[in-house]
Amino acid sequence: MTSSYRINYQLRAHKRDPLIEFIKGLLLTPFVLHAKPRKPVLTAPIDGDLSHDQESGGGGSSHTQDDDKNDYQEEEKPMVDANLQRYLEIMKSVEVMIEEHRRKALKGVPEHSRLHRIVPSVASFFTPLPLEAAFLDANAKHSIAARRFVPPSFNDIRRILNTAQVMAIAPTVSLITFDGDMTLYDDGTCFADNNTLIPLLVTLMRAGLRVAIVTAAGYPGDASKYEERLAGLLRNFQSNNLSEKLLERFYVLGGECNYLFRCGWKKNEATGAAVVGLTYIHPESYQPVDMLAWKHEDIQELLDVAEENLMRCVAAMNLKAVALRKSRAVGIVPINDGKIAREQLDECVLSTQQRLLEYQQMSGPSKIAIPFCVFNGGNDVFVDIGNKLIGVQVLQTYLGAAPDETVHVGDQFLSTGNDFATRSSCCTLWIVNPEETESVLKELTPLLTFPADGM
Ligand SMILES: [Mg+2]
Repeated sequence: MTSSYRINYQLRAHKRDPLIEFIKGLLLTPFVLHAKPRKPVLTAPIDGDLSHDQESGGGGSSHTQDDDKNDYQEEEKPMVDANLQRYLEIMKSVEVMIEEHRRKALKGVPEHSRLHRIVPSVASFFTPLPLEAAFLDANAKHSIAARRFVPPSFNDIRRILNTAQVMAIAPTVSLITFDGDMTLYDDGTCFADNNTLIPLLVTLMRAGLRVAIVTAAGYPGDASKYEERLAGLLRNFQSNNLSEKLLERFYVLGGECNYLFRCGWKKNEATGAAVVGLTYIHPESYQPVDMLAWKHEDIQELLDVAEENLMRCVAAMNLKAVALRKSRAVGIVPINDGKIAREQLDECVLSTQQRLLEYQQMSGPSKIAIPFCVFNGGNDVFVDIGNKLIGVQVLQTYLGAAPDETVHVGDQFLSTGNDFATRSSCCTLWIVNPEETESVLKELTPLLTFPADGM
C-alpha cells in the first residue's frame, strides 16, 4: 500500500538534503516575519496626515524627489541591518549545534546531540563550521539580507556551507579529491587545455597538497584512457615543466576506488621523448586486505543481478537505452546520444539499489557482501563495484591524511549520487558545475600556506 507518508518522506527523500532543508526552514521564519515588501513611498502628503513626513523627516509641502530617495535609504538600511542580525543569530546557533554534535560524536554518542534529534540523518562533521562568518561572506556577494521577495535558498545555504568548510579546513588540509564529470569538466568531456581550473590545481600542489581525481570512469589499469580524458591538464603540466616532486602529488583513482595512477615524467613509447603521464599502481601496494579479498565470481554475480534489474527497468519504462558491461561495472546508456529523463534515471537507481540490497541479504553471511554504488550519472545509470567512500579511505591510508585533513569536491551529493558516500570519511564541498569548483578554489588558495622551496 502506498501511503502519503511514504510518498512524501521516503520516495522523495533522494531529492532532499535534510541539513540544508533544516537551515532553510530556520531562515525562512525571519524572512516571512520581517523582510516584508517596502511600503510605497508617497510623493505628496495625504490631507490632514503628516505622519509620513514626520517618519521620513521630510519638509511638509516642500517634499521633493530627493526626499523620496532619503526615505528609501533611511527605511532600507535599518531593515537590512536587522535582517542580517537575525540571520546571523540563526547561523550562529546552528554553528553551536554542530559543535555540540561534534563533541558528542567524539564521545561515541552522536545520537545524543540536539542536532541529531532534529536532523536524524545528519552526517559527521570533521571540523567546526564557522557559519556566521560564512554567511557574512555570502551576504556580501548575494545580498541575502536585503532581499524582500526571494528568501535564502537551497543554493545560498549550500554555498554558505562550502565557504564555512573552506575557512575551517584551510589550515589543516593535505589531501583534496575531486570528482571528474561536472566538477572539473562538463559531463563526458575531456580536460581542455584552456580549462581555468588548471592554474588553481597547480597552486594546490605547490602548497604541498596531494590532489586526486576520484572518478567513476573505469578503464581497468589503462593509463592511456585516463591520459586521454586529462590530456589538456597533463599537457599544461608538461609545458610548465613541473618538477617530478610536484607531479608526484597528483593522482587519479578510477572506477570509484579500483584503479590508481600516479602522475610523473615518463618516456613516450613511440618517440622516446620525455612526457608527463600516468603510471598504474598495482592494487597489492595500496588496497586493504578486505578489498583484495573480493572474488571475481562474486563480483560478476552481483553485476549479473544489477544488469538484469537495469534491463527490467529499460523494458518497463520503454527507455531507448542499452546495457554497457565492464569488468567492475555495469550501466545503461542512451542509444544515439538520446536523453533519458531525470525521473526515469532515478527510478532505475532506486530500484536497482533495492534489488541489490535484497540480493545481498538473501545471499546470507557466508558470502562477503561486496560494496557497490548505484548512481544517476546525469544521462546514464551505473552500478560500480566499490564506491567513493572506499576510494577516499584508500587514498587517506596510502597518502597519510586524516578525515579533518581531507576534502572531497563533487556535484553528486544527493543519495542517488556517487559523491554522497564520501561524507562518512572526509569534509566535502558540494558544487554544481566547474564554475563553482573554480569559486571554491579561489576562496581556498589564498588561505593556504606555501612551503619556502616554491617547487
Ligand atoms: Mg560528477
